[in-house]
Amino acid sequence: MIDLTGQTINKLRVVRRVDNVGKQPAWLCVCECGAEKRVLGMHLRTGKPVDCGCGRAQRLREAHVRHGMTDTPEWRAWKSMLDRCNTPTHKAYVHYGGRGIKVCKRWMVFENFYADMGKRPEGTSLDRINNNRGYSPANCRWATQQEQQNNRRSNVRITLHGETKTMKQWATHFGVDYAVVKDRHSKGVRGAALFAASPRKPYGRKIEIDGLSKTITEWAAHFGVTYQEMWKRINSKDPSC
Ligand SMILES: [Zn+2]
Repeated sequence: MIDLTGQTINKLRVVRRVDNVGKQPAWLCVCECGAEKRVLGMHLRTGKPVDCGCGRAQRLREAHVRHGMTDTPEWRAWKSMLDRCNTPTHKAYVHYGGRGIKVCKRWMVFENFYADMGKRPEGTSLDRINNNRGYSPANCRWATQQEQQNNRRSNVRITLHGETKTMKQWATHFGVDYAVVKDRHSKGVRGAALFAASPRKPYGRKIEIDGLSKTITEWAAHFGVTYQEMWKRINSKDPSC
Protein backbone atom coordinates (compact mmCIF):
# COMPACT_ATOMS: atom_id res chain seq x y z
CA MET A 1 0.00 0.00 0.00
CA ILE A 2 1.19 3.50 -0.86
CA ASP A 3 1.63 5.87 2.08
CA LEU A 4 -0.47 8.94 1.31
CA THR A 5 0.38 10.79 4.55
CA GLY A 6 1.14 14.45 3.96
CA GLN A 7 -0.24 14.54 0.42
CA THR A 8 -2.75 17.19 -0.58
CA ILE A 9 -5.54 16.31 -2.97
CA ASN A 10 -7.44 19.43 -3.96
CA LYS A 11 -8.68 20.84 -0.63
CA LEU A 12 -7.94 17.67 1.37
CA ARG A 13 -4.69 17.08 3.27
CA VAL A 14 -4.03 13.45 4.26
CA VAL A 15 -3.21 13.22 7.98
CA ARG A 16 -2.94 9.51 8.74
CA ARG A 17 -4.14 6.00 8.03
CA VAL A 18 -7.36 4.97 9.82
CA ASP A 19 -9.34 1.70 10.08
CA ASN A 20 -10.33 0.09 6.79
CA VAL A 21 -13.83 0.69 5.44
CA GLY A 22 -14.83 -2.85 4.55
CA LYS A 23 -11.64 -4.16 2.97
CA GLN A 24 -10.60 -0.76 1.65
CA PRO A 25 -7.74 1.18 3.23
CA ALA A 26 -8.95 4.58 4.43
CA TRP A 27 -7.23 7.79 5.38
CA LEU A 28 -8.10 10.65 7.68
CA CYS A 29 -8.02 13.93 5.79
CA VAL A 30 -8.40 17.52 6.89
CA CYS A 31 -10.25 19.85 4.56
CA GLU A 32 -9.32 23.49 3.97
CA CYS A 33 -12.51 24.37 5.85
CA GLY A 34 -11.07 22.58 8.92
CA ALA A 35 -13.40 19.58 8.89
CA GLU A 36 -12.04 16.04 9.12
CA LYS A 37 -13.16 13.32 6.73
CA ARG A 38 -12.31 9.67 6.20
CA VAL A 39 -11.61 8.99 2.52
CA LEU A 40 -10.76 5.69 0.81
CA GLY A 41 -7.23 5.46 -0.56
CA MET A 42 -8.57 4.27 -3.91
CA HIS A 43 -10.65 7.44 -4.17
CA LEU A 44 -7.77 9.69 -3.12
CA ARG A 45 -5.55 8.12 -5.77
CA THR A 46 -8.03 9.12 -8.49
CA GLY A 47 -7.32 12.74 -7.51
CA LYS A 48 -11.04 13.43 -7.70
CA PRO A 49 -12.14 14.19 -4.13
CA VAL A 50 -12.53 17.94 -4.03
CA ASP A 51 -13.21 18.66 -0.37
CA CYS A 52 -14.88 17.26 2.75
CA GLY A 53 -18.29 17.85 1.21
CA CYS A 54 -18.48 21.47 2.30
CA GLY A 55 -18.64 22.61 -1.34
CA ARG A 56 -21.22 19.99 -2.26
CA ALA A 57 -24.30 22.19 -1.88
CA GLN A 58 -22.72 24.75 -4.17
CA ARG A 59 -21.77 22.09 -6.72
CA LEU A 60 -25.30 20.68 -6.66
CA ARG A 61 -26.74 24.14 -7.29
CA GLU A 62 -24.38 24.52 -10.23
CA ALA A 63 -25.35 21.11 -11.58
CA HIS A 64 -29.00 21.98 -11.15
CA VAL A 65 -28.57 25.16 -13.10
CA ARG A 66 -26.61 23.29 -15.76
CA HIS A 67 -29.03 20.45 -16.52
CA GLY A 68 -32.15 21.60 -14.71
CA MET A 69 -33.04 18.02 -13.74
CA THR A 70 -32.30 17.91 -10.03
CA ASP A 71 -35.18 16.22 -8.19
CA THR A 72 -36.35 14.30 -11.22
CA PRO A 73 -36.59 10.48 -10.77
CA GLU A 74 -33.63 10.04 -13.13
CA TRP A 75 -31.45 12.43 -11.19
CA ARG A 76 -32.36 10.82 -7.85
CA ALA A 77 -31.55 7.35 -9.23
CA TRP A 78 -28.20 8.63 -10.49
CA LYS A 79 -27.39 10.39 -7.23
CA SER A 80 -28.34 7.41 -5.10
CA MET A 81 -26.21 5.12 -7.31
CA LEU A 82 -23.18 7.37 -6.79
CA ASP A 83 -23.74 7.54 -3.03
CA ARG A 84 -24.07 3.76 -2.66
CA CYS A 85 -20.80 3.25 -4.51
CA ASN A 86 -18.71 6.21 -3.40
CA THR A 87 -19.85 7.35 0.04
CA PRO A 88 -18.55 5.01 2.76
CA THR A 89 -20.97 6.50 5.29
CA HIS A 90 -24.00 5.55 3.13
CA LYS A 91 -26.02 2.79 4.82
CA ALA A 92 -25.86 0.52 1.76
CA TYR A 93 -22.19 1.23 0.92
CA VAL A 94 -21.05 -2.11 2.31
CA HIS A 95 -23.12 -3.92 -0.37
CA TYR A 96 -21.93 -1.65 -3.20
CA GLY A 97 -18.73 0.40 -3.04
CA GLY A 98 -17.58 -1.72 -0.12
CA ARG A 99 -17.57 -4.84 -2.27
CA GLY A 100 -16.08 -3.21 -5.33
CA ILE A 101 -19.23 -2.20 -7.24
CA LYS A 102 -18.24 0.87 -9.23
CA VAL A 103 -19.92 3.46 -11.39
CA CYS A 104 -18.31 3.67 -14.83
CA LYS A 105 -16.33 6.82 -15.53
CA ARG A 106 -18.80 8.10 -18.10
CA TRP A 107 -21.64 8.04 -15.58
CA MET A 108 -19.90 10.29 -13.09
CA VAL A 109 -21.62 13.02 -15.13
CA PHE A 110 -25.42 13.10 -14.91
CA GLU A 111 -25.92 14.18 -18.52
CA ASN A 112 -24.14 11.04 -19.78
CA PHE A 113 -26.21 8.81 -17.49
CA TYR A 114 -29.40 10.41 -18.76
CA ALA A 115 -28.31 10.19 -22.36
CA ASP A 116 -27.68 6.43 -21.97
CA MET A 117 -30.64 5.47 -19.78
CA GLY A 118 -33.30 7.89 -20.95
CA LYS A 119 -36.45 8.73 -19.05
CA ARG A 120 -37.36 6.35 -16.25
CA PRO A 121 -40.60 4.46 -17.08
CA GLU A 122 -43.22 4.70 -14.32
CA GLY A 123 -42.89 1.93 -11.72
CA THR A 124 -39.30 1.02 -12.52
CA SER A 125 -35.97 1.60 -10.83
CA LEU A 126 -32.34 1.31 -11.83
CA ASP A 127 -31.28 -2.32 -12.02
CA ARG A 128 -27.98 -4.01 -12.68
CA ILE A 129 -28.48 -6.99 -14.97
CA ASN A 130 -25.45 -8.81 -13.55
CA ASN A 131 -25.36 -8.19 -9.83
CA ASN A 132 -21.60 -8.73 -9.68
CA ARG A 133 -20.82 -6.06 -12.26
CA GLY A 134 -20.83 -2.32 -11.77
CA TYR A 135 -23.04 0.47 -13.06
CA SER A 136 -22.51 1.01 -16.78
CA PRO A 137 -24.69 1.39 -19.90
CA ALA A 138 -24.14 -2.30 -20.76
CA ASN A 139 -25.15 -3.61 -17.32
CA CYS A 140 -28.05 -1.33 -16.41
CA ARG A 141 -31.72 -0.99 -17.28
CA TRP A 142 -34.88 0.48 -15.84
CA ALA A 143 -36.75 -2.54 -14.46
CA THR A 144 -39.89 -3.20 -12.46
CA GLN A 145 -39.61 -4.88 -9.06
CA GLN A 146 -40.96 -8.07 -10.63
CA GLU A 147 -38.27 -8.03 -13.33
CA GLN A 148 -35.62 -7.46 -10.69
CA GLN A 149 -36.91 -10.35 -8.58
CA ASN A 150 -36.88 -12.66 -11.59
CA ASN A 151 -33.30 -11.59 -12.14
CA ARG A 152 -32.45 -12.69 -8.60
CA ARG A 153 -34.58 -15.81 -8.82
CA SER A 154 -34.10 -18.45 -6.16
CA ASN A 155 -32.94 -21.24 -8.46
CA VAL A 156 -29.61 -19.48 -8.90
CA ARG A 157 -26.97 -22.09 -9.61
CA ILE A 158 -23.78 -21.77 -7.63
CA THR A 159 -20.49 -23.58 -8.11
CA LEU A 160 -18.44 -24.19 -4.99
CA HIS A 161 -15.46 -26.51 -4.67
CA GLY A 162 -16.06 -27.62 -8.26
CA GLU A 163 -19.66 -28.68 -7.60
CA THR A 164 -22.79 -26.96 -8.94
CA LYS A 165 -26.03 -26.94 -6.97
CA THR A 166 -28.94 -24.52 -6.66
CA MET A 167 -28.71 -21.99 -3.89
CA LYS A 168 -31.41 -23.88 -2.01
CA GLN A 169 -29.55 -27.17 -2.28
CA TRP A 170 -26.37 -25.56 -0.96
CA ALA A 171 -28.30 -24.02 1.95
CA THR A 172 -29.52 -27.50 2.91
CA HIS A 173 -26.03 -28.91 2.37
CA PHE A 174 -24.51 -26.40 4.81
CA GLY A 175 -27.44 -26.44 7.22
CA VAL A 176 -28.03 -22.72 6.85
CA ASP A 177 -31.54 -21.24 6.77
CA TYR A 178 -32.49 -20.67 3.12
CA ALA A 179 -34.20 -17.36 3.97
CA VAL A 180 -30.92 -16.06 5.37
CA VAL A 181 -29.04 -17.18 2.24
CA LYS A 182 -31.61 -15.54 -0.05
CA ASP A 183 -31.39 -12.32 1.92
CA ARG A 184 -27.59 -12.34 1.67
CA HIS A 185 -27.78 -13.06 -2.07
CA SER A 186 -30.15 -10.17 -2.66
CA LYS A 187 -27.65 -7.92 -0.87
CA GLY A 188 -24.91 -9.01 -3.24
CA VAL A 189 -23.08 -11.58 -1.11
CA ARG A 190 -21.53 -14.28 -3.31
CA GLY A 191 -19.62 -17.54 -3.01
CA ALA A 192 -18.99 -19.47 0.20
CA ALA A 193 -19.83 -16.39 2.30
CA LEU A 194 -23.50 -16.97 1.39
CA PHE A 195 -23.53 -20.08 3.54
CA ALA A 196 -21.36 -18.94 6.41
CA ALA A 197 -22.79 -19.39 9.89
CA SER A 198 -24.12 -16.05 11.05
CA PRO A 199 -22.37 -14.82 14.20
CA ARG A 200 -25.64 -13.37 15.46
CA LYS A 201 -27.63 -16.53 14.95
CA PRO A 202 -26.87 -19.88 16.52
CA TYR A 203 -26.42 -21.96 13.35
CA GLY A 204 -23.19 -23.53 14.52
CA ARG A 205 -24.02 -23.20 18.20
CA LYS A 206 -24.72 -26.23 20.33
CA ILE A 207 -28.24 -26.39 21.69
CA GLU A 208 -28.91 -28.38 24.85
CA ILE A 209 -32.01 -30.57 24.99
CA ASP A 210 -32.55 -33.04 27.83
CA GLY A 211 -28.89 -32.77 28.85
CA LEU A 212 -27.55 -33.50 25.36
CA SER A 213 -25.68 -30.87 23.36
CA LYS A 214 -25.92 -30.84 19.55
CA THR A 215 -26.02 -28.33 16.70
CA ILE A 216 -29.38 -27.63 15.04
CA THR A 217 -28.33 -29.77 12.06
CA GLU A 218 -27.49 -32.65 14.39
CA TRP A 219 -30.74 -32.25 16.29
CA ALA A 220 -32.69 -32.20 13.02
CA ALA A 221 -31.08 -35.52 12.10
CA HIS A 222 -31.73 -36.82 15.62
CA PHE A 223 -35.46 -36.09 15.42
CA GLY A 224 -35.68 -36.94 11.72
CA VAL A 225 -37.02 -33.50 10.75
CA THR A 226 -35.81 -30.81 8.38
CA TYR A 227 -33.45 -28.11 9.52
CA GLN A 228 -36.21 -25.50 9.14
CA GLU A 229 -38.57 -27.56 11.28
CA MET A 230 -35.89 -28.00 13.95
CA TRP A 231 -35.16 -24.27 13.89
CA LYS A 232 -38.86 -23.58 14.47
CA ARG A 233 -38.99 -26.07 17.33
CA ILE A 234 -35.95 -24.59 19.06
CA ASN A 235 -37.49 -21.16 18.85
CA SER A 236 -40.79 -22.48 20.16
CA LYS A 237 -39.12 -23.32 23.53
CA ASP A 238 -40.34 -26.89 23.35
CA PRO A 239 -37.73 -28.42 21.07
CA SER A 240 -38.33 -32.09 21.64
CA CYS A 241 -41.82 -32.18 20.11
ZN1 LIG B 1 -14.51 21.26 3.79
